[in-house]
Amino acid sequence: MASHTTNLHFVLFPLMAQGHMIPMVDMARILAQRGAMVTIITSPVNANRFRSVVDRAIEADLKIQILELQLPLAEVGLPEGCENFDLLPSSAHAVNMILAMNMLEEPAENMLKVLCPPPSCIISDGCFPWTNDVAKRLNIPRVVFYGPGCFAFLCVHIVTSTNILDEIDSDSEYFVMPGLPDQIEVTKPQASTWGRGDTKESTQVFERMVEAEKDALGIVVNSFEELEPKYVKELSKVKAKRVWCVGPVSLCNKSFQDRAERGNKIAINMQDCLKWLDAKESGSVIYVCLGSLSYASTEQAIELGLGLESSNIPFLWFIRQPSEEFEEWLFKEGYEERIKGKGLMVRGWAPQILILSHQAIGGFVTHCGWNSSLEGISAGIPMVTWPQFGEQFLNERFIINVLKIGVRIGMEVPVIFNKLDESKEIMKRDDIKQAIEGLMKNDEEGEARRKRCMEFAVMAKSAMEEGGSSQRNMTSMIQAIIEELAKKKTPV
Ligand code: UDP
Repeated sequence: MASHTTNLHFVLFPLMAQGHMIPMVDMARILAQRGAMVTIITSPVNANRFRSVVDRAIEADLKIQILELQLPLAEVGLPEGCENFDLLPSSAHAVNMILAMNMLEEPAENMLKVLCPPPSCIISDGCFPWTNDVAKRLNIPRVVFYGPGCFAFLCVHIVTSTNILDEIDSDSEYFVMPGLPDQIEVTKPQASTWGRGDTKESTQVFERMVEAEKDALGIVVNSFEELEPKYVKELSKVKAKRVWCVGPVSLCNKSFQDRAERGNKIAINMQDCLKWLDAKESGSVIYVCLGSLSYASTEQAIELGLGLESSNIPFLWFIRQPSEEFEEWLFKEGYEERIKGKGLMVRGWAPQILILSHQAIGGFVTHCGWNSSLEGISAGIPMVTWPQFGEQFLNERFIINVLKIGVRIGMEVPVIFNKLDESKEIMKRDDIKQAIEGLMKNDEEGEARRKRCMEFAVMAKSAMEEGGSSQRNMTSMIQAIIEELAKKKTPV
């Protein structure tokens, strides 16, 4: 297999959002470790964020390169440099970003035409349906990648391919999602935040993605079979496609540097953070990080701060972009001084997988982005679930009802991604305190939860090891590509 793989050249098109780019870059390294050549195509700002990761891979003799394509930002009314969803002036600009990304078809095709050696496979984010047209014109097999795992993806398929949601009037009542192997209840808004547009244009975007997916050779998923065996099977059945679970891809980061620096420059002196954690008892600290895109109003940030302070649990809280008013509140209250010793608040980007694997961490408050969820699972850490938008409520259901490794914070109503600052639902300090203390308890329930977490972490690790399910699935995906290439070369 290795000798065949060395002849392959994979071209990866990640969506310009951290939750999509980070796992794709990990996937690039896994493919390159198999001996393949890998080209990642992205815009200059995104290329820069991953430059050091890729440089380290090159130093380790992996055949990886990043090629840059300029996003037509001015043409869609975006300021210079806004090349990722986490760099937009506001989430309302998401639609401009999608427009810009959809204008990459022609330049991307021109780039692929002159690529040497010529590409043997495109792995593209499902959100770039135009890569299907390019793949067809250039006669290259295409594999599609989406962010979520099989559970959420299956739910999205069910609600987009049936009229189940049209039959439900209430926005607050829970209904049993039909067609799932387990009895899972959701509300209509929780089930409809991904895959169904709310305007004619966004509906068309999703429809085009589904159409493009039909031509794909298969679907590659950042998950592992042992985590969701029934859902992997069911997804493959309903999609009538091969589904290759090749994760958790974050586990390919073995060295300290690779685990510390992923996707962005980290916010703090890592040594300070690690020193702080080193001084804490094993499994005693709750880590709080709500992903790369989540938004917390000043009111919500204050409640979270007070909830953390009032709980009896030490905490490490990474906050992405505190508002000016929140900074004023922090200063006026002397909050950071007050929590000293018990809590550490850090502004900016967390070295997340490094933190999650630290022995002091015993719980994770997460927004249930799929990567964060899977990283928590891989580290064997139980989670307080605080979903906000997209498929995050579905991931919450998976963590709580299927895996039974979390405690809900109690968020009920999803926010629409392009209206993040319109969120009306505020989690109160007492809800936050209660959920955290509930998760960290050493009672029978807490012990059982921790035991399940450890079991999943062991399974995750084995899946990625030699002979493990994710390793075998990667081999089987490569084999399918080789066979497809052979077919394409044979004139009909
Ligand atoms: N992440 C990180 N540091 C941060 C915030 C996020 O390393 O401060 C990483 C996290 O480990 C994960 C990704 O960014 O790999 C976020 O993806 P996810 O699907 O969890 O959520 P999203 O940000 O897409 O909502």
